[in-house]
Amino acid sequence: MTSLNKQKNMVSDERIAALLAADQQTQAIRAGHVSGPEGEHSAAIYATSSFVFETAQDAAARFAGDQVGNVYSRYTNPTVRAFEERIALLEGAEKAVATASGMAAITSVFLALLKAGDHIVCSRSIFGATTAVLDRYLSKYGIQATFVEATNYKEWQAAANNNTRLFFLETPSNPLADIVDIAKVADIAHKNKALLVVDNCFCTPAVQQPIKFGADIVVHSATKYIDGQGRALGGVVCGAKEQLGDILRFVRATGPSMSPFNAWIFLKGLETLQLRMQAHCASALALAQWLDKQEAVEKVFYAGLEHHPGHDLASKQQKGFGGVLSFRIKGDKEAAWRFIDATRVISITANLGDAKSTIIHPATTTHASLSVEQRQQSGISDNLIRVSVGLESLEDLKVDLQRGIAAL
Ligand SMILES: *Cc1c(COP(=O)(O)O)cnc(C)c1O
Repeated sequence: MTSLNKQKNMVSDERIAALLAADQQTQAIRAGHVSGPEGEHSAAIYATSSFVFETAQDAAARFAGDQVGNVYSRYTNPTVRAFEERIALLEGAEKAVATASGMAAITSVFLALLKAGDHIVCSRSIFGATTAVLDRYLSKYGIQATFVEATNYKEWQAAANNNTRLFFLETPSNPLADIVDIAKVADIAHKNKALLVVDNCFCTPAVQQPIKFGADIVVHSATKYIDGQGRALGGVVCGAKEQLGDILRFVRATGPSMSPFNAWIFLKGLETLQLRMQAHCASALALAQWLDKQEAVEKVFYAGLEHHPGHDLASKQQKGFGGVLSFRIKGDKEAAWRFIDATRVISITANLGDAKSTIIHPATTTHASLSVEQRQQSGISDNLIRVSVGLESLEDLKVDLQRGIAAL
């Protein structure tokens, strides 16, 4: 971290040193604070598109980059910068660049770092829109992707060629919670002189820090757990200065920048991230264990369960097992829909990472754009249901899922 915002009534060098040495829980609340001339205790929102200069010479110096300071909010904004500094510190990254959405973050990584002829190796079970960007759009510009089985490390290696520049994965995967060994894939990527990008949306840095395991770049949809209350779209890319410089220049030039208001929401979100993630993880584990015992449930996918193939790896790589679980009911698509429709508390929505629990039928919604064959390959069966476990009372959630079971 280069500078924890040095506002005059706020930050001394001693204070920066104290925060650098502090626990992640403290950093999530205190780092990257932005305080205006009034000495606000709650971060100021700099709702401005541009910034004024003292003199014409001053303006020229800032445009030339000879003088630090803000110019225009597509380039930098103090509220956005505070969010970037805080999340970079939490991920253990040198730098972060915030974007307007998670997809803007992911697409910016691809477009800033790749050129025609380059190749990506990507796990098959990634966010649907990421697959669409690779399949439908990057292919138009001569960038090819090969999709591999996330936990088959021989496939990762076999898919690489001389043009491979990036490896890309999500762990735990959505919706089946496959756990991918980040260190192993980082090793394969580096042997092939490529970078590893990890989408850390499902865990957040409170649960998993991919850079510690060798990842070069971490991307987030801040829309999910970082906000935590489903209020705003946002994304962020974290990593080393070298690559982040390219990504920053790309975002500045093309414009998928984060708004100051959304940055303020995410700063607030980060302040409760650790506590929320602990609660999401605890409730999801309890519900997974409960569902696992239900006669009407065929199989539960959650790495916190000891029978899950990724359990040991997740125990090493993560500080909890996350808040999302999925399960197959005994029955067909109609039965799965009846289950979902019978819930009264849980919201039927594709969003996740919210204080409100959500439930969805992946095969006909989030993964509907895959072909039947692709869904079969990925295990997205018609009797699969995904739940993002929120922060409501655990007992109430059990009662609600019991309504679903009764409707089967
Ligand atoms: C939601 C999501 C995204 C995309 O984020 P947006 O903020 O919706 O653009 C990317 N990756 C994962 C894993 C997600 O869940």
